[in-house]
Amino acid sequence: MEQTITEKIWHNGEFIDWDQATIHVMSHVVHYASAMFEGIRCYETTNGPAVFRLDDHLLRLLHSCQIYRSLPAYSLDDLRQACLELVRVNKLNSCYLRPIVFRGYGTFGVNPLLNPIETYIICWKWGQYLGPEALEQGVDACVSSWARISPNTLPAMAKVSANYMNSQLIKMEAILNGYTEGIALDASGNVSEGSGENLFLVLNNTVYTPPIAASILPGITRDTVVKLCDLLGLTVKKQDIPREMLYIADEVFFTGTAAELTPIRSIDKIQIGQGRRGPIAKRLQEEFFAITSGRKEAPGDWLTFVAT
Ligand code: PMP
Repeated sequence: MEQTITEKIWHNGEFIDWDQATIHVMSHVVHYASAMFEGIRCYETTNGPAVFRLDDHLLRLLHSCQIYRSLPAYSLDDLRQACLELVRVNKLNSCYLRPIVFRGYGTFGVNPLLNPIETYIICWKWGQYLGPEALEQGVDACVSSWARISPNTLPAMAKVSANYMNSQLIKMEAILNGYTEGIALDASGNVSEGSGENLFLVLNNTVYTPPIAASILPGITRDTVVKLCDLLGLTVKKQDIPREMLYIADEVFFTGTAAELTPIRSIDKIQIGQGRRGPIAKRLQEEFFAITSGRKEAPGDWLTFVAT
């Protein structure tokens, strides 16, 4: 996983140099995790770089900000233009985009309302999140001893920094025990999601994924995969998934902007299916990458071309 530094970062309507994008240690976000953000991929296509489901990501960002009473001064249109301009300015063919809205430097204390709302957009080259072979070979996962954040504590539908402390506990435990990723259960003990990915499983040719109320982030890749399943004539059920269903599934896979569609070959050392990418995951990957590369027309307005 390499991270390439890019030339420019967008900050409150202006492009600044990478090295200038620093904040004060007394900024509210540093102490109280008051940041709402997105992760978006821009793919290389035959018609130049194109951002995948840009408006859907930006809408989710604004929803996260709305939940935390921290709407930025920029509209979805402004943010869309800023993202496209940023990719152009940095002359990238493909990249990962990270818009982030946070409470900056103002009055110290928990109350965020006394602190300015800062908006940044960063982009850089980012390869395969779960390792170079993950998309084909699959990864080894475990069920975490940490549960996913639960209702009435932190809202899971918001993509905010604080939620990723829970994700970090899940991820560290998994890595230190020799797994690539951890799967969290929700407060009731049903399957929720990975530390940074949604989860799907296939059993008897039916595709299952946990519902929104299972404390998941409503993933845009999850939504994409559900729509692709519909197009391929596969039945998808958004329903509670008991933990043991993972172990007897024919296929299990993660979905996410960074992870794309990553098969899981074992969970808690129990082999899933044939212990490698299954046929449905493969079929969905083919559809997904055909669309993101512009080789196949998307069912919706999924690609926003960066153009010049
Ligand atoms: N769940 C969590 C906790 C995540 O961090 C992500 C990545 N944003 C996802 C699910 C997948 O969401 P998306 O497909 O929109 O990237």
